Amino acid sequence: MHCPFCRHPDSRVIDTRTSDDGFTIRRRRECLECKRRFSTTETASLTVIKRSGASEPFSREKIMSGVGKACQGRPVTEDQLAVLAQQVEETVRQNGVSQIEAHDIGLAILEPLRELDQIAYLRFASVYSSFDTLEDFERAIGELRQESASK
Ligand SMILES: [Zn+2]
Repeated sequence: MHCPFCRHPDSRVIDTRTSDDGFTIRRRRECLECKRRFSTTETASLTVIKRSGASEPFSREKIMSGVGKACQGRPVTEDQLAVLAQQVEETVRQNGVSQIEAHDIGLAILEPLRELDQIAYLRFASVYSSFDTLEDFERAIGELRQESASK
């Protein structure tokens, strides 16, 4: 972080604040060279570790497109997908970690997706949890039935 006044590369952090949404960090800094003060805003980074071991930055768009595939032909709007992606991001960021496994993101998707659309949920869960047999579907459907009965 270079000083905006003299371009000196080093500064001292004198105050750190996390914004209400928890995603951005505001830092008050003092330049070690010219002693002038400036603020920076940083987005807390979140890295996704894929099953292959490769990593990539967390992206709501990726979640929207992944879940969107499961929602094809279902009465689910882009707005609802955007809200779901935001819920997922909030869930995974609550843990305060900077790295998360793709598997855990899948888990975080299942819950809000079940609330959103049960058919899309079954499709997503069948791919994500790799259902192998009809019994896997029966079990998942049974769980959904129990839930709607208890509502
Ligand atoms: Zn400076």
